[in-house]
Amino acid sequence: MSAQVHALAAPTPRTAAAAATARAAPIAAAVSNPRAAPAAERFAPMSFKVFTARDLDRIPQLARLSPEQRFEMKVVAAVLPFRVNQYVIDELIDWADVPRDPIFQLTFPQRGMLASEHYERIARLIEGDADKDALEAAIAEVRHALNPHPADQMQMNMPLDEHGKRIDGLQHKYRETVLFFPSQGQTCHAYCSFCFRWAQFVGDKELRIASSEARVLHDYLRTHTEVTDLLVTGGDPMVMKTRHLREYLEPLLRPEFDHIQTIRIGSKALTFWPHRFLGAEDADDLMRLLRQLVEAGKHVALMAHYNHWKELETDAAHAAIRRIRATGAVIRAQGPLIAHINDDPAAWARLWKTEVRLGLVPYYMFVERDTGARHYFEVPLARAWEIYQQAIQQVSGLARTARGPSMSASPGKVEIQGVTEIAGEKVFVLRFIQGRNPDWVQRPFFARFDEKATWLDQLAPAFGEAKWFWQDEYEAIRAERLVG
Ligand SMILES: *Cc1c(COP(=O)(O)O)cnc(C)c1O
Ligand code: SF4
Repeated sequence: MSAQVHALAAPTPRTAAAAATARAAPIAAAVSNPRAAPAAERFAPMSFKVFTARDLDRIPQLARLSPEQRFEMKVVAAVLPFRVNQYVIDELIDWADVPRDPIFQLTFPQRGMLASEHYERIARLIEGDADKDALEAAIAEVRHALNPHPADQMQMNMPLDEHGKRIDGLQHKYRETVLFFPSQGQTCHAYCSFCFRWAQFVGDKELRIASSEARVLHDYLRTHTEVTDLLVTGGDPMVMKTRHLREYLEPLLRPEFDHIQTIRIGSKALTFWPHRFLGAEDADDLMRLLRQLVEAGKHVALMAHYNHWKELETDAAHAAIRRIRATGAVIRAQGPLIAHINDDPAAWARLWKTEVRLGLVPYYMFVERDTGARHYFEVPLARAWEIYQQAIQQVSGLARTARGPSMSASPGKVEIQGVTEIAGEKVFVLRFIQGRNPDWVQRPFFARFDEKATWLDQLAPAFGEAKWFWQDEYEAIRAERLVG
């Protein structure tokens, strides 16, 4: 199969040679001239060219890898989602630094992402030209062993209607915020190799959480006046046509939705396809929509997913950021801490500084979730906290709006506040940033220090206590939800 060329509205900025020059240029030179803004928005049309697992042999840059490495990629891409596009390949990855390059690690499959028994099993089947059914069955088994739905998302976060039936495409875990998964937004312009929502990209219908219905969203929000924030998420809602986004968002300007103060849109398009925001008619319409929401009094926040400062160095990325900010929308930046990509304080300090310089607000540093290729990407909590602390020490107060490292665990978002010693015991100081019960939020609690632990469920309460302060209540909520 050839790489599919999609007619997604898209303009192109310049040649690959110019891209290489820009990569080499210091960031300060690239962003210091605010007068460049209007011209930068006139990007010539460019088509969106995407590569999937079937197209690995068609990516010329991969020719520099050995045949063994290319085979390894195919094996891993048979299990975990793989999708990359020409912009990422040409402008974000430094091919001279492959396989170490962080954006290469972010998007391309690596052998270590599968446990060796899983890797060997799939590799033998592919090498032996196994029949399609046997291969598919093995792949399905390996996927199911990778905890496709971490933190009980399906059972515990999907709200129920008045008949006790799950409402598709919504999650309502924390009182103020509803997550909406529009069906047209359940893919991304490229896939992150560590994606915690990977299960929905591998075609397993029962694992998907998506809604196509504006009515479902609006009915739910109308009756839930405790909700102040809508978070449109995916996949990436920015893969949608603007007119679909408009169908969901424009009705929120009616008085019956006055309680919805904030519209957040989670997206990695500023990294993977900044042309979504530039040049073409659909992009202009998107800017009009954002401006319209802002002018009607909503807080509009693009929750931009970033892992590395290299995502913020291209002309197209800068132009897209300027355009979005000009609508009055705020861009908040968040992303997980990932081994092989950004497990380094200097990388985070430079990311946060670059964000602040470009007018973005650093928001969250997440701990990599307990799913997919976690053994390849995870960083011990103790190390995560060190990285956070050492990074935050290097930046000014304007970049210290980044919270974390935070685990999006089933009881809530739990932040590691520090490591200290109390009454002779070395402990982690923890707090809920968000909790299933709002009353848990902001109460400090303590776990026995553990150098190796990578997730909340591997920690034990400090001081010999048998349970967490929130444990009985959490288990009661859980029992109630899982029965229903
Ligand atoms: C993170 C998250 C939110 C938003 O939390 P904030 O702290 O307000 O950003 C809402 N719902 C779920 C399920 C989340 O994981
Ligand atoms: S942008 Fe988000 S949803 Fe899309 S692949 Fe990356 S982590 Fe997953």
